[in-house]
Amino acid sequence: MQVIRLEALSDNYIFLLHDYKQNIAAVVDPAEAQPVLEKLAELKAELVAIFNTHHHNDHVGGNQQLIEKFPKLIVYGGAEDRGRIPGQQVFLQQGDRVQFANRIAEVIFVPGHTRAHIAYYFPPQEAGETGDLFCGDTLFSGGCGRLFEGTPTQMVDSLSKLRSLPDDTHIWCAHEYTLNNLRFALTVDGDNADLQRRFNEVKAYRSRGEATIPSLLGVEKLTNPFLRWDQPSLQLNVKSSDGVQTFARIREMKNNF
Ligand code: ZN
Ligand code: FE
Repeated sequence: MQVIRLEALSDNYIFLLHDYKQNIAAVVDPAEAQPVLEKLAELKAELVAIFNTHHHNDHVGGNQQLIEKFPKLIVYGGAEDRGRIPGQQVFLQQGDRVQFANRIAEVIFVPGHTRAHIAYYFPPQEAGETGDLFCGDTLFSGGCGRLFEGTPTQMVDSLSKLRSLPDDTHIWCAHEYTLNNLRFALTVDGDNADLQRRFNEVKAYRSRGEATIPSLLGVEKLTNPFLRWDQPSLQLNVKSSDGVQTFARIREMKNNF
C-alpha cells in the first residue's frame, strides 16, 4: 500500500491509499473531489473506499462527487457521526477493523476535536515496516485539534491512545500547520532542545515549499506540547502540576496565539 499525499483547499491534505497489485485505491478525508479524481485518472485506479475521520466539511466535502463517480465504493466513518457524513454506510467504533487490499486498519475512537472523531491505524505487517496513523484533526504535527465538541479530559484520553503507538509510526494528519504549531510550542516549551532543532528544520522545509507530513510519533513525543502534558518542565511553565490542567492551559493559550 502506497500513501499518496494530495493538497486541497488552503492547507488540507487528502491521503490516497493505492494498492498496485489490484490497482484499487481508498481515500482518507477527501476535502474535495477534484484532486482525488485527477490522481485516480492518472493511476487508472478504481476508488473502493472513503475513510472519514470526522464530519467537518474540509474532510467530507468531496464525498458526494466521489460516490457519484464510483457508486460501489464504501464510506466509513465513526458510529457517533451517524447523519453527519455524506453517504456513510459503515459506523465504526473503538477496536473495529477495516480492510483495504491486503492491509487491515484498527479503529481508534478519539473524541475531543469532535465528539465522534476516529483515527485509522495500519500496523506494520512485517519486520522493518512502519505503521501508518491517519488521525484527521486530533493530533497535528506539533499541535492538536481545537476542542469543538469535547473536553480536555477526553482529548488527553484520546491523545494518550495515539501516544502509545510505536515511535516509528507515520503520522498522517490532515493539515499543514507544523510551522505555526512549533512557533507556538516554543512559547510554552522554549528550553526544549529537540523542539528548537525541529523548528529550524521545519522552517527550512517550508521555505523550500516542502510538506512536513507525514511526521513521526517519536518526534511528536519529544516536541509536541500537546503530547507532553505530564512533563515537569512544561507543567512548571504553565504553573500546573496536573496533566489534564496542563493540557487545558496549553490548549487555551494556543486558541489565543
Ligand atoms: Zn475538523
Ligand atoms: Fe480539518
